[in-house]
Amino acid sequence: MFLHIGEEIINAKDMLGKIDSEIGDGDHGAGMATGAEAFTAKLQEASCHNVNAVFKVTGMEMMKSMGGASGVIFGTMFSGGVKNLPAKETLDTNTLAAIFGESTEAVKKRGKASVGDKTMIDALEPASEALKKAAGEGKGLYDSVADAEEAANQGVEYTKNLEAKFGRAKTLGERALGFQDAGATSVWLIFKSMRVWMEKNE
Ligand code: ADP
Ligand code: MG
Repeated sequence: MFLHIGEEIINAKDMLGKIDSEIGDGDHGAGMATGAEAFTAKLQEASCHNVNAVFKVTGMEMMKSMGGASGVIFGTMFSGGVKNLPAKETLDTNTLAAIFGESTEAVKKRGKASVGDKTMIDALEPASEALKKAAGEGKGLYDSVADAEEAANQGVEYTKNLEAKFGRAKTLGERALGFQDAGATSVWLIFKSMRVWMEKNE
């Protein structure tokens, strides 16, 4: 599943770059693609024996290879999710909800952004809440990830109505209105990639 996420991030390089270029410096697609190439290579060579190892390796490789704000932010999104979690052999809804709950807290602690600041948190937090809700309702993994994808998508739409409080767009004020946040778009893409992979690999 993570190899598929990597593939989709690499394919979305230009799209993410274009979104970032509207109100940022245009490097988000290139950065994410660099991170995806790094974690793909590492996952292919490393033997990850459990769910935690896959998340940890993915995040560490993004942090090492990407640099900049988003390397830390997206690296933390993956590796911060499993830092305090007992090792799991199987990815089920409860595990995924727990991982993204931790991950959202870790990114917020690291980057100090909250919902409404026009960052990836505007997609990550609602996606994480959707997973928690789905877990509470006893939904299966596919349906839960589909809920998270939808919540992240709504988060991306929500960022269009916001002025930025973090990152390079923060100096733009009202000029950022109407444009979606690049990092939020990446979060949506990651959940979408998970869902598409599950659809193909039932
Ligand atoms: P840079 O801002 O260094 O050019 P990128 O363009 O790769 O890095 O990533 C920009 C994205 O990073 C933004 O769209 C936003 O979603 C996210 N981001 C920036 N700062 C923060 C922060 N403090 N907390 C959470 N996300 C952030
Ligand atoms: Mg940028």
